[in-house]
Amino acid sequence: MTLSFDPDLIACRPAHFIGGERIAATDGLDLKRPSDAVSFAACPIAGPDLVDRAVAAAQSALAASGWGRARPRERTNALHRWADLIERHAVELARLEAVASTRPIAELMAGDIPISAEQIRFFAEFADKEGGDLVPTGDDSLGLIASEPYGVVGAITPWNFPLSMAAWKLGPALAAGNAVVLKPSEMTPFATVRMAELSVEAGLPAGLINVVLGDGPVTGTAITGHPGIAKVSFTGSTGAGSAIMANVARTGVKPMTLELGGKSPQVVFADADLDRTIAAIARSILANAGQACVAGTRLIVEASVAEAVADGIAAAMRSVRPGPTWDAASGYSPIISERQIARIGSLVDATVARGATCRTGGARMDRPGYFFAPTLIEGVDAGSPAVTEEIFGPVLTVEPFRDEEEAYAMADHPTYGLAAGVFTRDLARAVRASRRLQAGTVWVNRYGRSRDHILPTGGFKSSGIGKDLGRDAYRANRREKSVLIGL
Ligand code: NAD
Repeated sequence: MTLSFDPDLIACRPAHFIGGERIAATDGLDLKRPSDAVSFAACPIAGPDLVDRAVAAAQSALAASGWGRARPRERTNALHRWADLIERHAVELARLEAVASTRPIAELMAGDIPISAEQIRFFAEFADKEGGDLVPTGDDSLGLIASEPYGVVGAITPWNFPLSMAAWKLGPALAAGNAVVLKPSEMTPFATVRMAELSVEAGLPAGLINVVLGDGPVTGTAITGHPGIAKVSFTGSTGAGSAIMANVARTGVKPMTLELGGKSPQVVFADADLDRTIAAIARSILANAGQACVAGTRLIVEASVAEAVADGIAAAMRSVRPGPTWDAASGYSPIISERQIARIGSLVDATVARGATCRTGGARMDRPGYFFAPTLIEGVDAGSPAVTEEIFGPVLTVEPFRDEEEAYAMADHPTYGLAAGVFTRDLARAVRASRRLQAGTVWVNRYGRSRDHILPTGGFKSSGIGKDLGRDAYRANRREKSVLIGL
């Protein structure tokens, strides 16, 4: 069966999903398909009243079902059934996602969807294995550190990997015994709503997952400031993350996990296996056309091999196969929107205006939709916009270094610290680099996540607070209570 499909046959019906029911909405933000810029749907903007309704539905679902109190293995089993159903509906979910987003159908079927199901299973297995602690106290008492769910978690996700990001939030929150009010990005809500609906078909209590559609300023603000939301879990830009912190501070105090932006360096030493290094770096900047938080956007390369490495990456960049996300043969993603592609162009132009040059790319591709040519920029300095700003597009800068200390100084970004890569055959230097690089994740002689979901992901500096994935993400969805029993 070919995976290619006709996007005109896919109905993206805007609807919130509250208390196990779709609440249809007729108007809202006009959405265009990134692959051909054709309008295809509208995204409604939920106001505070709908958010109230979603929080109330979540609270009633918790109370009526006992989800957070029941035998933990029941949560595990229910989440496994949901993961099964996600896999069975992979084609339907992948089509909904491909039409609205930048994710190509072949990658959704091979990666995003099976991996999301796998991650839900990964978290499901914590439910009956992670607990509290029995601690040493005086002879006249018994001291426990009990662990319990928060209640209702408010989750907000971005558009770049919509289903995966929803799974990262929902998996640990639900396994830990919470209910969730989730707001997907206003640009890519449709597959997420369907995934939530499947949870009810799989037997999870209606109201455990509620999806409200809307933007950041109205709907997002109503969620993060809601008194019934006990914890916020957010993935998106650093600007939105700080707006959320301000809103939470204005409306009360609650714990937050913030997974934010990045400007990740890839440090290449002359002794690295250059062919493999070039392939890894090209993949990291071309995947999803650079619209990945951990995209390795700053190549910091030892001067003696800079020309060879830049040449290899430029060749890979020139060989991409752009195409619509619904064509299984497409090998290169569009940019999400007109606004975003214009922003990429202006940051590249501003960098060139300061004296840098594009070895390849530098402009929008001459084809329908929002495709930006993979771009390699040389002659930048520490103040170039392409070095300082998160561009969120297929733009890689090159900065040559002469010695190790200079490499670490260049790698250290004043704002971001999400991920970093180092390529070298020298084991001692690899270990040194992993200690020196200021990032929440350091990849050595590879770049990008594996399917080892036990490794947490999260940023240093303004790249975030707390972790997604790993044991940490499960624990972040539970709170500890000290119990001292007098004997
Ligand atoms: P964005 O910050 O514009 O929006 C993300 C989500 O937040 C959307 O659902 C949006 O509606 C909502 N939002 C915006 N302002 C808000 C506010 N004031 N209050 C509440 N909600 C608000 O980001 P985006 O453009 O959708 O996604 C790209 C960004 O996400 C990049 O900066 C990228 O690095 C980051 N990201 C980070 C990770 C990570 O794990 N660290 C993963 C993916 C994406």
